[in-house]
Amino acid sequence: MTHDDHPTSAMTRRVAALERTLVERGTITNEAVDDVLDLFTRKLGAHHGARYIARAWSDEEFRERLLEDATAVVREYGYDLRGATHRELPFLRLEVVENTAQVHNLVVCTLCSCYPIAMLGPPPRWYKSVQYRARAVREPRAVLAEFGVQLDPGVEIRVWDSNADCRYLVLPRRPQGTDGLTESELASLVTRNSLIGTAQPLEEVPA
Ligand code: FE
Repeated sequence: MTHDDHPTSAMTRRVAALERTLVERGTITNEAVDDVLDLFTRKLGAHHGARYIARAWSDEEFRERLLEDATAVVREYGYDLRGATHRELPFLRLEVVENTAQVHNLVVCTLCSCYPIAMLGPPPRWYKSVQYRARAVREPRAVLAEFGVQLDPGVEIRVWDSNADCRYLVLPRRPQGTDGLTESELASLVTRNSLIGTAQPLEEVPA
């Protein structure tokens, strides 16, 4: 099946025409396009980032290493930081920043939409919006409240501005009452937004 069997919108027709032309010229194949779609829609996702968090919650030595040098830790897991596939990160450095009782971390890219795609999948639309990029820096507490994250006035908010070279992942606080959970159950509490800082992790394993 080619990708342009049922083009609907003008943009879809335009993309289909472009794909058809590139395939006809031998620049790409339909299979290669399918592979990219599969990569972004299925293989990449927050479950990758969640693994590191669950392990950090369960293993103190791992937590310390992750906070000290997340780049080295993810390299051990097989990412070579060059980009292009789900086994690689398209940036040079990964920093993990830890939420505590005193500090809440929030990640943004004020310039464009830099994001640890290999860890979290494609960024949500709001992350790329001008509003989020400006307001996350100017009024992070108000932005967090709109996401449903209510912080005590005494909690310091640290905003991390991502760029082409460096991406950030938030290490959320481990929810109370999760002592008996396995690492994969813990990972299921870690949502995409909790890794960006715009949510707290779930408190219970989703059904
Ligand atoms: Fe960016």
